[in-house]
Formats: sequence, structure tokens, C-alpha cells
Amino acid sequence: MPRPNSADTHGGGADEPSGGAGRRGGGGGRPARGEFATIDRLARRLARRGRGSGTGETWIGDDAAVLRPPAGWMVLTTDVVVAGVHGDLALMGVDDLGWRAMVASVSDVAAMGARPGHAVVAVAAGGDADVEGLYEGIAAASEEYDCPVVGGDLSGVAGPGTAATLVVSVAMTGEVAEAPPPVRRGEARAGHTLFVTGPLGASAAGLRALRAGQGEGPLGDAYRRPRARVAEGDAARRAGASAMVDVSDGLAGDLARLATASGVGFELTELPVAAGAEQEDAVGGGEDFELVIATGRPDVLADHFAACGLRPPLAIGACVTDPARRTLLGHPLPAGGWEHVLGPS
Ligand SMILES: [Mg+2]
Repeated sequence: MPRPNSADTHGGGADEPSGGAGRRGGGGGRPARGEFATIDRLARRLARRGRGSGTGETWIGDDAAVLRPPAGWMVLTTDVVVAGVHGDLALMGVDDLGWRAMVASVSDVAAMGARPGHAVVAVAAGGDADVEGLYEGIAAASEEYDCPVVGGDLSGVAGPGTAATLVVSVAMTGEVAEAPPPVRRGEARAGHTLFVTGPLGASAAGLRALRAGQGEGPLGDAYRRPRARVAEGDAARRAGASAMVDVSDGLAGDLARLATASGVGFELTELPVAAGAEQEDAVGGGEDFELVIATGRPDVLADHFAACGLRPPLAIGACVTDPARRTLLGHPLPAGGWEHVLGPS
């Protein structure tokens, strides 16, 4: 049953009109308008046929979703996106925020070499927040990445200054049906080659372009509608990648996490910078969602990407024995990110 001031999309609220969740905004005095109707519309927006049908599964419409466990391995991740922190609604649509919330989790699944399974989405929203617009983007990403939203929760937020509050939490499973198993961060070894799945910095450059009122085109799209590299992650796993991480916080920070987990250092000899981006965007800019891949079999990786019809992975350097050695183009690369170290050697 829904809790007071919240309602779960498992519950199919329109069928439970006396469930105690009929007001939005808690004690804030907003009219008890439309929460169940909203949930009903959201459930219909998210309803899909295909996967799940005829298998005894239940998605939206019960107290909890019922799913068949996948063959092989399951991964599980969660991510929180907060309007104003992870996305400025003055610069993008609320549907874009929903898309980004989903893609952040899809990217974490991809970074394990897994494919998205199912998602549940919890939203806390102030009275002025456009929840249905948010779900447009969530539904679009669900379709794009074949990741059904099988349930969730919706709560009002009360209190002064909270009218525009919008917090989105996505929990997502991913699946690896057959060996090799999911790719962790901690198995890179000295001598392994480091790749990225594409040039970096487009998202950060896109944010700058949007702030300058020039966000039309691919750079703005890179910020508003980033892509997760699911096929690339799967291909890298199959090709024997030793470690992998997605670039969600910036190359410097994310690669440092991989190196720390693996107990290695790294020397980066290349920095692929996206068109329209600067070097510092590529080093420190987050949410590109390209993957960083370590492998002891670089030729196998390149061949497998080609066989899958994927963009060639870009070699950026190698892992080294000394865990304290972390360099980019011969300069120390601070784990925390960009510190203007890229002047001429
Ligand atoms: Mg990640």
C-alpha cells in the first residue's frame, strides 16, 4: 500500500482511491489533485509489450515487480539525479533530466560489460515540478536501451522553497548471460593497454555552449541526451577486457578509481578530445559516458570491435607497475581532476 504522501507505481494507484496518498506536497496544503491519475498515466506511458509477456512476470501494477532471474550474472546499480545539481533545468528540458537519470545507470551497467535488465524509478517532486515531462525522458531512455521500468514510487516534497524540487532515483539491473563474467575495475595489470570508446569532453563543452545560448547541435545534445556505450561494454567483456569504468565524473577521476582498484599506475600518451571541446573538458569533464577499457589483448579488442561494427576503440596509454605514477602526456595527473598540468613539456 502507498504510504502517506507517496504512492507506488506498482500499486496502480487509480484502483486504490482511498489508499491514503491522495495529496501532493505533504502538509504543504496543495490540493489533493491528480496523484493517482498521474500515476495511472505514468504507468500507461511506461507500459510495454514484448519482454516479460507470457513469462509469468509482473511489471507495473502490483506491490512489487515479479521477474525471472537472468541466466548467468546479474549486476545491480542505483543512481540519484537532482535537478539543479546534476542538470540545470534552465538549460535543458525536464525530459532531458529523466533521460540522463536513466542513462547514468545504463552506463554503469555497460561499464560492467552487462546489458540493461529492468529499472525501478523513485521520484520526489515539489508541486511545481513537471513529473510527467520527466517521465517522457525516462520512457524514451527505457525504449532506447530496452530496459523496462517495472515499478517505482512517487512522493511529494513539502516545505518552503521546495516547489521546484525534483529528485530522481533509478535502480537498475543488468545481465551477463554467458561467460566471461562482468568486468570489474580491479583486474588491470601493468602492461595492459588503456582504451576509451570515443573522444571525451563533449558533455562539458555542451554545457558551456548551452550556458552561452549556443546549445543547438551535437554539443548541446551531448550534454542533454548523453549516450551509454552498451554494445561497446559487452564487446569489451567478450574480448577479454581486464578492467573497465565509465567516464561519469571525468577521465582523471574515473581512471584513478580503476588504477587504485587494480593497484597500478598509468601513463597516458594520447588524449582524444571531442570536436568542439577543450583538453580540460576531456580530462575533467563528466558525463561523457564513454568507457575506459584496460586489456592485455589490445589486438583482440580492436578486432572484436571491428567485427561488431563498432567505432574503433582509441588507445590512450598503458598501465604501469608503480601505482603512484599517473601521468598524462608526461605530466602528473592529479586524481581529483584537472589542475592545468597540460602545458608544453
Ligand atoms: Mg560508473
